Amino acid sequence: MNVYDSELVGGQLEKLGYKHTKKIDSADLIFLNTCSIREKAEETVHNKLENLHYLKKRNPKLLIGVLGCMAQNLKNEILESKPYVDIVLGPDSYRKIFDILQFRKTQNGSIVDTKLSKFEVYNDLFPSRHKGINAWISIMRGCDKFCTFCIVPFTRGRERSRTVNEIIKEAEKAVDDGFVEITLLGQNVNSYFTPEGDFSYLLERVAKIKGIKRIRYTSPHPQDINQELLKVMAKYENICNYIHLPLQSGSDRILKRMNRTYTSKEFLSLVDLIKKYMPNCSISTDIIVGFPGETEEEFNDTLKVVDKVQFNFAYMFKYSSRPGTKASQYTDQIDENTKQMRLEKLIEHQRKNSLMANRKQIGKIEKVLIEKDSKKSEHFWSGRTEGNIWTVIKKTDENIKDIVPVLINDAQGVTLFGEKIKNREENYEIN
Ligand code: SAH
Ligand code: SF4
Repeated sequence: MNVYDSELVGGQLEKLGYKHTKKIDSADLIFLNTCSIREKAEETVHNKLENLHYLKKRNPKLLIGVLGCMAQNLKNEILESKPYVDIVLGPDSYRKIFDILQFRKTQNGSIVDTKLSKFEVYNDLFPSRHKGINAWISIMRGCDKFCTFCIVPFTRGRERSRTVNEIIKEAEKAVDDGFVEITLLGQNVNSYFTPEGDFSYLLERVAKIKGIKRIRYTSPHPQDINQELLKVMAKYENICNYIHLPLQSGSDRILKRMNRTYTSKEFLSLVDLIKKYMPNCSISTDIIVGFPGETEEEFNDTLKVVDKVQFNFAYMFKYSSRPGTKASQYTDQIDENTKQMRLEKLIEHQRKNSLMANRKQIGKIEKVLIEKDSKKSEHFWSGRTEGNIWTVIKKTDENIKDIVPVLINDAQGVTLFGEKIKNREENYEIN
């Protein structure tokens, strides 16, 4: 989401004549696009801003801006503790960059705009994308789910969807610009809804665009995955058989306290349903350990679900208290030591599960989209399977952006290794 927003802002700045530079010392303007999801993300931004202060002392004309969720959430704190920050813009204020930069040429003092909008979806502002394989396209913004641990509904505001036509237009432009993979984005991507249709309708429309080799989407909420969506995913070859399905916890009491709207049993049934439509579908997840009040037994319930589903991979977090959220007011917060121990235990379980899931691919044929030279050597490519697993293959006559059938012959850590096969070899099981 933040990459997409940075590209949107980049597009605006290019219109104003700015050019992207990798040399930070020579920049006239530096924007930090920030995230507030966990305390650590905020600490990183505070440290970066301290470093930028040195640059500003050397070059007083340098403009420094803070964008995104932290700007929304902590504008007063930033302005008080870091008066050298010139511009503070919340996630719904990027359209104003043009006017703000014009104004700033003649006026001093900080400029702040953090008004959240019920309507802003940045239609008609095309992002400036770096050339590559994958184009991110934001299809909806905001979140109305109010999970008790999460700051997003407060920093990003209410749920709103872009029109189907605007999204199709942007996807077609991305194809014209040479992108072969599209990732549809939203805080709750499958809550997408317009009078024209829901997320499954949109996904089908995108799948029909000529030239798109792969489509992914993130992050869906388990509550909004329905059979229609799974049918569309199973029907179109260019929609990856891959779902990121955030579990958060395997304990029903904790799930309820998190306001996640499903039980562990319902989550497991959903996994079964996904596998019914797409037997080879890869599933990844997000998990939080040490949510307030989580007992050892409840943490073990999470391990049980994790081992049962055998996620292909997982993003695992220690609960981080976010001021203003409901869970931050719970009085039974878990101590740091316990959270750390639980996280390490979970990571160890998941490491084994990921390796096991990858080993199961050995002997099978995966379709790999060639993306770049492998770090291993210039004689090897790196590409991803439909299930989003990086795979290393020896170079032959294929090119970047080709999708090639690869016979997997090894799995190490989180990486697969294999060799390209000729399409004629039909004796293998194709995933
Ligand atoms: N909308 C998505 C998730 C967006 S945030 C969903 O509902 O699944 C990405 C992940 O960050 C979440 O899935 C959650 O696991 C994690 N996260 C959010 N708030 C957190 C917090 N306060 N502490 C720790 N992890 C958090
Ligand atoms: Fe946060 Fe996702 Fe829950 Fe929305 S659905 S509140 S973004 S975790």
